[in-house]
Amino acid sequence: MDWSSCTLCPRNCHANRNNRHSLTGICHETNHLRLARAALHFWEEPCISGKQGSGTIFFSGCTLRCVFCQNHSIADGSVGKEISQKRFVQILLELQQKGANNINLVTPTHFVPLIIDGIQQARSQGLHLPIVYNTSGYETLETLQLLDGIVDIYLPDLKYNNSTISQKYSFANDYFSVASCALQEMYRQVGDPVFDANGMLQKGMIVRHLVLPGCTQDSKAVIQYLYQTFKDHIYISIMNQYTPMPAVQILYPELNRKVTNKEYEEVVDYAIELGIENGFIQEGETADESFIPSFDYEGI
Ligand code: SF4
Repeated sequence: MDWSSCTLCPRNCHANRNNRHSLTGICHETNHLRLARAALHFWEEPCISGKQGSGTIFFSGCTLRCVFCQNHSIADGSVGKEISQKRFVQILLELQQKGANNINLVTPTHFVPLIIDGIQQARSQGLHLPIVYNTSGYETLETLQLLDGIVDIYLPDLKYNNSTISQKYSFANDYFSVASCALQEMYRQVGDPVFDANGMLQKGMIVRHLVLPGCTQDSKAVIQYLYQTFKDHIYISIMNQYTPMPAVQILYPELNRKVTNKEYEEVVDYAIELGIENGFIQEGETADESFIPSFDYEGI
């Protein structure tokens, strides 16, 4: 990996990540792992969290930087602790010892070579859990190909179909064209879902879509694309837990509210009309901050 000219993600910054004093990459991260939390997490889809929890590692920094980010304190890099590769391997093994159903790597793209090295070392020391790659979906094929045979479960978002919306909220007018190709590569690698006897996912892909306020038409376009492309060979998770953060109040006032029940039901009804069988929906009052854990360096 050439850290002096980084092209790990579609931002293609060519940033010198060896130089911690002048970080020019959009992810704002160096060539050392930084983590905000590594703990059992119980708020993923049931076949990921189960009763014992998902061994979830939140990395600092992000390559997409959505304006409405639900984990903004780690995405902007203000929270994070640098760790060694040796400590990363220990963390993977500690999560397994705590009974985790899997290792869940959240926003890992900008650290992929370091993560692969850590997983390979941990495998040689007894790590046997499935690896979950939990991503915005904004990935290059080259970086994904490094993960072939390493990742067991892809858990990507497909956030937008419309390039005007993706430009406005994530500064990425190529989001759909990039993410749709990425999802096809992810499916090529892991194939159809495989569950164990307890109903826990061991291999496969769940694509998440967070419904945004005022964006139901785009949500429907995303869901139509997913079903036309993958049918029921993947799971589609339609989420209503959007939580307005203070950052949107002035520049994006249309995002400064929760998604209404009517909006969410409109999208879910559309998915049902299409005939989607392999899906997850969120019921009841889930649009609060309980899904957002404390980034207090637990487990690091
Ligand atoms: S991983 Fe970071 S530095 Fe590398 S291309 Fe992406 S945003 Fe830029």
